Amino acid sequence: MAWFRKPKQKLQKGDRRELPSDVFEKCGECAEILYRERLAKNLYVCPSCGHHLRIGADAYVRILADEDSFQEMDVGLRSADPLGFVDLKPYVARLEAAEKKARHGDAVLTGTAALEGIPVVLAVMDFSFIGGSMGSVVGEKIARAARAALERRAPLIVVSASGGARMQEGILSLMQMAKTSAVLARLHEESIPYVSVLTDPTTGGVTASFAMLGDAILAEPGALIGFAGPRVIEQTIKQELPEGFQRSEFLLEHGMVDQIVDRRELRAEIGRLLRHMLGLPAGAIGAAVDAFPADVGALAGNGGPPARPSQAAKEAEGRTGVAPSRSGR
Ligand SMILES: [Zn+2]
Repeated sequence: MAWFRKPKQKLQKGDRRELPSDVFEKCGECAEILYRERLAKNLYVCPSCGHHLRIGADAYVRILADEDSFQEMDVGLRSADPLGFVDLKPYVARLEAAEKKARHGDAVLTGTAALEGIPVVLAVMDFSFIGGSMGSVVGEKIARAARAALERRAPLIVVSASGGARMQEGILSLMQMAKTSAVLARLHEESIPYVSVLTDPTTGGVTASFAMLGDAILAEPGALIGFAGPRVIEQTIKQELPEGFQRSEFLLEHGMVDQIVDRRELRAEIGRLLRHMLGLPAGAIGAAVDAFPADVGALAGNGGPPARPSQAAKEAEGRTGVAPSRSGR
C-alpha cells in the first residue's frame, strides 16, 4: 500500500464570517480606521488626531447631563408645513423620513437636567434632522427652553449644530431668529446664565441668533462656524480667504468665541463656568446646591418658592404662547 498517498480533502464550505458594517469608522481628518466601541468610549473624538466626529443630540445629552436627570420637554411639537412646500419631495414626507432617521420630532431636543448637580435647562440640536435646520419647531422649542430657564431661574445650555434656517418654512423660519433672541434678552436682564456650545457645523440663522448670544460661547475644536459659507463670501468680496477661516480656532483668535473646549472636557468645563456664574464654590458638585439657600437652593427645588420671584418669570408663566406655535400636525 502506498503509504504516502494522501486522501484528498476538499475545502469545507463553512459559514463566511461577516463583520457588521458599523464595527469600524473612518476618521474624516486623518483617515485612520477606528474601532467604533473604542471611539464611543472616547466620546467620538479620534484617538490619533483629536478630530471631533459629529454626534447626535442623544449623545450630547448623555455627555452633559447627570445620569437619568434629563426630562425631555415638548416631545410632541411637530411642524405644520404652512406653505405646503414641495421640492424634490413634499416637505411632509421629508419630515417623516427625518424623524425616522434621527428618532426625534425635529432638529432639537430640549429638557431639564442636572449638570454636575446644578439644575439646568438643556437644548441640543441634531444635525441629522434635515441638516439641523431651524424651522418653527426648533425656534419654538428653544424659546420655550429659555422661558423654562426663566421660570426656574436655572442656567440655560444650548448645543448648536445647524446648516441654517429651514427654507421649506420660508419667512416663518427666519422669524425664529427674532423670537429666540427676544427671550434670551430677558434671560440676560434677569442675570440667568446662558452657555452656548458651538459644534460642527454652526451656520446660517442659528449663528445669527441664539448661538452667538451666550454669556459664554464655547466651541468644539475644528468646528465650522459662520453665517454664509466660504464660497459665497469669496465670490462677494472677490478675495481669497485665509487658511482656517470660519473654524473655531480662527474665531477664538478674532474674539467671536470665548473658549475652545475638547468634547471630553465639556461637562467639567460648563460645570466650572456655571459654578463661577452662580457664585458656587469651585469644585462643589451636587451637595453644594443645598449649601446655598438663596437663588441656587430654589433652583434645586429644595428651597420652596424662588427667593426672588422675578417679574419676568411671573409674566412668562402667564404667556407661554408669546409666538404662535406652528405645532400640531
Ligand atoms: Zn483622526
